[in-house]
Amino acid sequence: MITRRAWSASLCALGAALVGCGAHGAQDAGLPERPGPSAATTASPASTASPSATPSRPPTLAPGPAGLTPVFTNGPRTGGKTVALTFDADMTADQGSRAAAGERFDNPELVATLRRLKVPSTVFMTGRWAEEYPDEARSLAQDPLFEIANHSYSHYAFTPDCYGLPTIGTARMRSDVERAFTAFRKAGVAHAMPYFRFPGGCYDDRALRELTPVGVTAVQWDVVSGDAFATDADAVAQQVLDGVRPGSVVVMHCTRSAAPATEKAVRTIVPELRDRGFRFVKVSELIGEEAGGRG
Ligand SMILES: [Zn+2]
Repeated sequence: MITRRAWSASLCALGAALVGCGAHGAQDAGLPERPGPSAATTASPASTASPSATPSRPPTLAPGPAGLTPVFTNGPRTGGKTVALTFDADMTADQGSRAAAGERFDNPELVATLRRLKVPSTVFMTGRWAEEYPDEARSLAQDPLFEIANHSYSHYAFTPDCYGLPTIGTARMRSDVERAFTAFRKAGVAHAMPYFRFPGGCYDDRALRELTPVGVTAVQWDVVSGDAFATDADAVAQQVLDGVRPGSVVVMHCTRSAAPATEKAVRTIVPELRDRGFRFVKVSELIGEEAGGRG
């Protein structure tokens, strides 16, 4: 893992492909958000809506110690053979020129495969990605197979020394996450989930404290696919198949340029896990199980 992280960091340092940085690290986490004031506003535009009138309100975890943003890593290990595939739609704030030059940060083929195989999935989307691909963002949002969660606006790191990613200042942490929700709404994504995945999975108590007012649940993961910059789909698939346990959250990417083998790996992973008796679920279902288990 150290080797992979070092490799990833060096790639980032070269500026080769910042979008996938952090995907290799065990720390790369996906954090689900709990519904906070802004999320509730988004989900319930009608002023008359009350919590009891919105049964579809996403499950979230209770705040952590001292009111910190809660962190979710995986679902219950004894709740059945469920697994959540998550896909980070990375795009860094300064990559617009590369997109304009033809580099593709989306992966329609992967999305088509997930639809064909009927795999419920959670997409952690950056606000910048939603701006670049509004039609795709809206299509995902309107498809009940998917749920969209927040991966920041800029894909800047929330701690120093995170795989070479540019670091966002403390004062901008909250606004960057809120800016992503705003970008989603502008793209036509009306009901983004109150879950947040830190870029690179890098966070500390300060970051968790800064995001408390946003009301999100941070979502990490327990299975690293290693799909960022990978060209060997079989190796990615094997790493996932070796790591998945009941309740697992798998981190992958839906950015063609930075994760070119992911679609092929998914075609191996999905039937194999189903043969083993696993059922694919969205992160919200695992969080609901976790929250329910905690009573
Ligand atoms: Zn990312």
